[in-house]
Amino acid sequence: MTDLAIGILGGAGRMGRALVRAVTEAKGARVIGAVDALGNPDIGKDLGVLSGLDALGVVLTDDVSALFGRADVIIDFTVPAATVENARIAAATGTAYVVGTTGLSPEQQTTVAEAGKRAVVVQAANFSLGVNLTVALTRRLAEVLDDSFDIEILEMHHRHKVDAPSGTALALGRAAAAGRGVDLDAVEDRGRDGITGARKRGGIGFAVLRGGNVAGDHTVIFAADDERIELSHKAGDRIIFARGAVHAALWTAGKTHGHYTMQDVLKL
Ligand code: NAD
Repeated sequence: MTDLAIGILGGAGRMGRALVRAVTEAKGARVIGAVDALGNPDIGKDLGVLSGLDALGVVLTDDVSALFGRADVIIDFTVPAATVENARIAAATGTAYVVGTTGLSPEQQTTVAEAGKRAVVVQAANFSLGVNLTVALTRRLAEVLDDSFDIEILEMHHRHKVDAPSGTALALGRAAAAGRGVDLDAVEDRGRDGITGARKRGGIGFAVLRGGNVAGDHTVIFAADDERIELSHKAGDRIIFARGAVHAALWTAGKTHGHYTMQDVLKL
């Protein structure tokens, strides 16, 4: 069988470089190209060299259409404004599309979800196996525990991260809300400061820390009187997200269109 031809969007980024490494170490897939934003200083450079590997003989370009034309699957870790355009191209061309960009507005999210009507789309705020298990366990605990357990979600990321709370923290919040049969929008409590008043029963709180080169720490706390359960996941290196995204890309082979999550890919 020929290797799955993978194209990477955001190839000069932190995740783009990790993706090149993850595809190179995976069986059954190869990188056929990568694209970054027009004017990026790394355009024209070899993807292997950019990613700390030997030269691959494939260079970074700014030609998105050409990449969609050649790839079996596109993996997109860019910025929301680019991702909506890329999702439209995936829908128009029917190319399988794995998307990890976070911080999408509700309208941008709708465009990505709609692409699933025409193409296989796998979208996850976090592609790591461990985090996806933590999401599944969070939902299960929230199903079992009543609202005498206050749910708080704490996350920490590196100093360059631009959106908060992280997409993963929000996914954990949605899982907790779903377990309780409520809408996260109705119960979330973000950014407490000053005289906030007492905690609302049933609320789901978020706290955000930023600093250093932390790849991503998440803890879900279920706090009742006299006892507390904490589920924690700590990412040591962003390669875990890249490996998960490559796993999802391989999973798309032979699937019909649809908007899938990593929970589908991992059958959780
Ligand atoms: P980064 O800033 O290092 O990389 C983003 C890259 O996208 C940059 O090189 C930028 O030039 C490029 N880009 C911008 N516009 C573009 C365009 N129009 N076409 C092609 N490339 C374009 O950021 P990062 O740390 O690699 O993260 C990227 C995204 O992935 C963020 O939204 C981040 O939150 C998300 N992320 C998701 C997961 C996950 O598992 N889902 C894990 C880590 C990061």
